[in-house]
Amino acid sequence: MILTDTHTHLYSEEFDQDRTEMIQRAINNGVSRFFVPSIDSHYTSKMYALERQFPKHVFLMMGLHPTYVKENYQEELAHVEAELSRKTFYAVGEIGIDLFWDKTFLKEQQHAFQYQIQLAKKHKLAINIHCRDAFDEVFEVLESEKATDLFGIFHCFTGDFGQAKRAIDLNMKLGIGGVATFKNGKIDQFLNEIDLQHIVLETDSPYLAPVPFRGKRNESSYTKLVAEKLAQIYQLPLEEIARITTENSKTVFGI
Ligand SMILES: [Zn+2]
Repeated sequence: MILTDTHTHLYSEEFDQDRTEMIQRAINNGVSRFFVPSIDSHYTSKMYALERQFPKHVFLMMGLHPTYVKENYQEELAHVEAELSRKTFYAVGEIGIDLFWDKTFLKEQQHAFQYQIQLAKKHKLAINIHCRDAFDEVFEVLESEKATDLFGIFHCFTGDFGQAKRAIDLNMKLGIGGVATFKNGKIDQFLNEIDLQHIVLETDSPYLAPVPFRGKRNESSYTKLVAEKLAQIYQLPLEEIARITTENSKTVFGI
């Protein structure tokens, strides 16, 4: 069984004490493909070190996370652009809009999102979207950039059925993680109406751990718990969920 964690922050400080063991534990659990989103330039060298340590397992994205769009965001975008031209990445991410914490830089967030979508198109890469309290704003940018070469993943999808369909119409797969196991997560209520070909698995570790680890540190091995929940929802064997969602991840990332 090969499970794919399409969104994991392996470089997080939360893993500084036991990173290698944590990654090995995931691989032993069948979670052997890790797609690692970028946040800002601060973590770039740590990401490259992980790629060198686990070249068959770790696949990197490059991008500026919306909550890190600040006064210096043009410099950060220049870093993203330079790295994308310099080496191989499998997506531009994570990018998008986040109005949960702070609305001060909304204009800059919108600009950074659009600019990075254009970089993804230029490099023929997928995008990995972060959207928090900002569905209207994210869809506005996506609609303006809508094209056959715009595709990717709506990471940690928490929207309703209508928003799910809208995302799928824009060539996006839905990244499903720990929230699907929460009692008040809502997403489990309509997921069976979404064809499995549009679904990929993720943890967003170290955040959003699935039940029974809710509130604790999340890690990539828990991708299996998300897959088990989907097996219940779709009434399919776990192996089938693993096979199809890993296939879907290959369609998006090209590897
Ligand atoms: Zn993330």
